[in-house]
Amino acid sequence: MAFRSGRHSLQIPGPTNLPDRVLRAMDQPLIDHRGPEFPAVTKAVIAGLKRVFKCSGPIAIYPSSGTGAWEAAILNTLSPGDKVLAFETGQFATLWRNLAQRHGIEVDLIPGDWRHPADPAQCEAKLAADKSHAIKAVLVLQSETSTGVASDIAAIRRAIDRARHPALLLVDTISSLAIQDFRHDEWGVDVAVGGSQKGLMLPPGLSFNAVSKKALAASKTAKLPKAYFDWQPMIDANDSGYYPYTPATLMFFGLKESLAMLEEEGLDNVFARHDRLAEATRRAVRAWGLEIQCADPKAYTPSLTAVRVPGGFNADEVRKTILDRFDIALGAGLGKVLGKVFRIGHLAYINETQLLGTLGGIELGLAAAGVPVKRGGVDAAMDFLGGNLAPASAVTPAVATSRR
Ligand SMILES: *Cc1c(COP(=O)(O)O)cnc(C)c1O
Repeated sequence: MAFRSGRHSLQIPGPTNLPDRVLRAMDQPLIDHRGPEFPAVTKAVIAGLKRVFKCSGPIAIYPSSGTGAWEAAILNTLSPGDKVLAFETGQFATLWRNLAQRHGIEVDLIPGDWRHPADPAQCEAKLAADKSHAIKAVLVLQSETSTGVASDIAAIRRAIDRARHPALLLVDTISSLAIQDFRHDEWGVDVAVGGSQKGLMLPPGLSFNAVSKKALAASKTAKLPKAYFDWQPMIDANDSGYYPYTPATLMFFGLKESLAMLEEEGLDNVFARHDRLAEATRRAVRAWGLEIQCADPKAYTPSLTAVRVPGGFNADEVRKTILDRFDIALGAGLGKVLGKVFRIGHLAYINETQLLGTLGGIELGLAAAGVPVKRGGVDAAMDFLGGNLAPASAVTPAVATSRR
């Protein structure tokens, strides 16, 4: 590989760019995870995660990628042959379905076109028709990372309640946590699944289950075999600040730092920043004359934008041109949209100028790949971002300096 000057632009929808503060926090000598210092770390990260998940119940932290926490949510709450309801929002919903099926769970997957969110009305109808309460859980992704479509979790909760159905609500927040609002307790979520490498600004390798009382009660009678992923030994050890096995200690130091950064910025400001950058991106895409994969403007996810390439073009070749020429990594189309979309990640540790650089590289790269696009996408993004700028006198520099 020839030398490339400047920073590589990692603009995939996760893993995301690591803040230097997180890297430095992880650059530590190891400590004994059974020694006297570790409980304070454990307690700090669990308390911080509870504030991000808005969850008062236990939070299991696994040394695994997000897929492990998907599996943990299934193993702890369900029994062989149980039925669950899920929505085909895209590739990640399909993968979670596949995982559940491999554990002998019967999944009723409501078909989707990969351009719309989970439909609360269909959820309500399915549950209302399930008089015997055979459906034990509803599985939904707050943000479907393969398509850039967000589902309304509060609306799914209301649909379950209107059907007066006891199903558990299991929610994947892997590409939405610390990006858009999530309210575990308020929305009656039973298990929220999270991962470290997206909104939490950490390397891949940690995953989470935020657990409700109802889910914990279900875990007492759930019959799928669980050992490593069992919540109870984790909860028991966590009470004294320890783990049933060796935790990923350096990642815990990084997590403590990233949680501090989120609190310094303020979660509501974090959400507003993502909304702003996402809208700027969509304006650029429209100005180029390209189509956004998400067909429901109320359901855009603030973490990424999936962009459809015109017929006759292969999105992966376009991505390759953009990577080769401008050193920008964009997300590939997955599953049914392979070759049809590329995905721009605008999440986690990112600001306006990083986004504008990315959009500029994409605008040049699209032209270099021969895709017939109009210039002016970056201008459209700048017009939007500029329109939202506070007058210089109102800007408090403390915010800008604390995140270095
Ligand atoms: C990234 C992602 C996953 C998969 O997580 P891994 O860490 O790759 O196992 C699952 N669900 C969603 C919504 C994701 O964005």
